[in-house]
Amino acid sequence: MAGAEDMDRLLAEVLAATAPLRGSGRVATYIPALADVDPNRFGIAFADGTGEVHGAGDCDVPFSIQSISKVFTLALALERVGPALWDKVGREPSGSAFNSIVQLEHEQGKPRNPLINPGAIVVTDQLVGDGGADAAIDRLLAFLRVEAGDGSIRVDDAVAASEAATGARNRSLAWFMKSFGILTNDVETVLSAYFRHCALAMSCRQLARAGLFLAFDGRDPCTGREVVAWHRARRINSVMMLCGHYDNSGEFAFRVGLPGKSGVGGGILAVAPGHGTIAVWSPGLNEAGTSAAGAAALEALVERTGWSVFF
Ligand code: GLU
Repeated sequence: MAGAEDMDRLLAEVLAATAPLRGSGRVATYIPALADVDPNRFGIAFADGTGEVHGAGDCDVPFSIQSISKVFTLALALERVGPALWDKVGREPSGSAFNSIVQLEHEQGKPRNPLINPGAIVVTDQLVGDGGADAAIDRLLAFLRVEAGDGSIRVDDAVAASEAATGARNRSLAWFMKSFGILTNDVETVLSAYFRHCALAMSCRQLARAGLFLAFDGRDPCTGREVVAWHRARRINSVMMLCGHYDNSGEFAFRVGLPGKSGVGGGILAVAPGHGTIAVWSPGLNEAGTSAAGAAALEALVERTGWSVFF
């Protein structure tokens, strides 16, 4: 692994190399509260195997992690219900938009994977099962605060309210799955938890640190504590690799070669097994919904470190 100074230098280099791309792409506007974000923001952070977090640019500015939260809810749901989760949600790339309803009808309401909206709503349904939506969010916040070592992580209530007010498509998906018996709890209860976990505000530093267990076979590399079983961490990574970036997951695997998850807030969490985790944030999205400058930054980092899992 590169030394601490090397890593700081490397992140500064990636920041400079991708500067011309800053502001490119389009900020998500279908959630009104996300439309106001400055498209020129750019942050990157790397958490290494000692738990140290290196950062550059706007790496301390909290942003809306949106669908990146689906990685953490998946981890919690797998710990909670085990492999039975896969009876309700598949693990194949969808090849269609993250909020598509067409595939759901063909496949009797069982979503293709847990990282597209209907799949994540199914996962959230499993988390609200006992205790309701507030308890599910409290458990998720407690988990993230411990893993990130930062008690200040919170849900951005304005973003959650904005999404709840405009969430007709997610409501349709949820009711559709309810009609097939895939969702077990009250639809509005499940969505209230779903909208809130998508509205988590985290900085690149917090996000990289919180996901570090995924790079070390489910363990916190600093303490050796098992966060999730090793086989679960590997499987979460495999789902991220195949399904983590909407309908450009293949492109991301091709260019970056690391498991990752994009969110429409412009964040990407990427996992370099055995090395660490990288979180990047730049709000301008490409056509498929992945951060344009963020993906380019990860590509530049991997080019310089050789961290592709296909190495
Ligand atoms: N909260 C967003 C939605 O449900 C998440 C989308 C994303 O980041 O992929 O549409």
